[in-house]
Amino acid sequence: MGYNIAIDGPAGAGKSTIARLLAKRKGYVYVDTGAMYRALALYFLEQGIRPEDREAVVDACRKAEVAISYEDGVQQIYLNRRNVTSQIREEAVGNMASVTSAIPEVRARLLDLQRQLAKEQDVVMDGRDIGTYVLPEAQVKVYLTASVETRADRRYKELTEKGVSCDYEEIARDIQERDERDMNREVAPLRQAEDAVLVDSSDMTIEEVVEKIEGLCEG
Ligand code: C5P
Repeated sequence: MGYNIAIDGPAGAGKSTIARLLAKRKGYVYVDTGAMYRALALYFLEQGIRPEDREAVVDACRKAEVAISYEDGVQQIYLNRRNVTSQIREEAVGNMASVTSAIPEVRARLLDLQRQLAKEQDVVMDGRDIGTYVLPEAQVKVYLTASVETRADRRYKELTEKGVSCDYEEIARDIQERDERDMNREVAPLRQAEDAVLVDSSDMTIEEVVEKIEGLCEG
């Protein structure tokens, strides 16, 4: 098994930014599991599959091949051999992923891939159930969170800087709905693993969070 750092937490807590920086600093591979759920969600959207149609979802899971590779150290995500790295960032894909990730077959479809990656190499893996379910033996587990206001502020700023017009209240509502779904689903709900260290990034800089987690790693 590689050295595994698991970072879980709600949407917008800064997991991917932190995990990416930490991985770079330690020379580990960053594995973004949310991107895998997004890739499957993109497939469901493209095929016009509704999440309520369980049979169609299960069938689609068999047909959708998700793979990741690293080009110049940056994770690229492939859906049936097509690079969908930027496409999966769309809001509609994120919303679909948030709904379909509650389906057991969808989670089962990605589990082996996630475990295999962590077995072969040193990784910083982020998601919702990494410390609790995917990598229960991870050497370092962090539950990274921040207040809804902080997360909504960050998202608002990020979108505004990109020139995307958006509504703060709507973003905050969206975040709350996502939390609700992720925390209350039956399979692999989002929760802090017993042995995870809680890090609230509301009043911390990115640098401070990275240093805090680095301090939890040995060597
Ligand atoms: O983190 P990101 O927003 O990219 O994840 C998209 C969706 O995938 C989340 O809303 C969450 O419901 C789901 N997800 C999950 N388990 C993970 C990673 C993501 O359920 N390990």
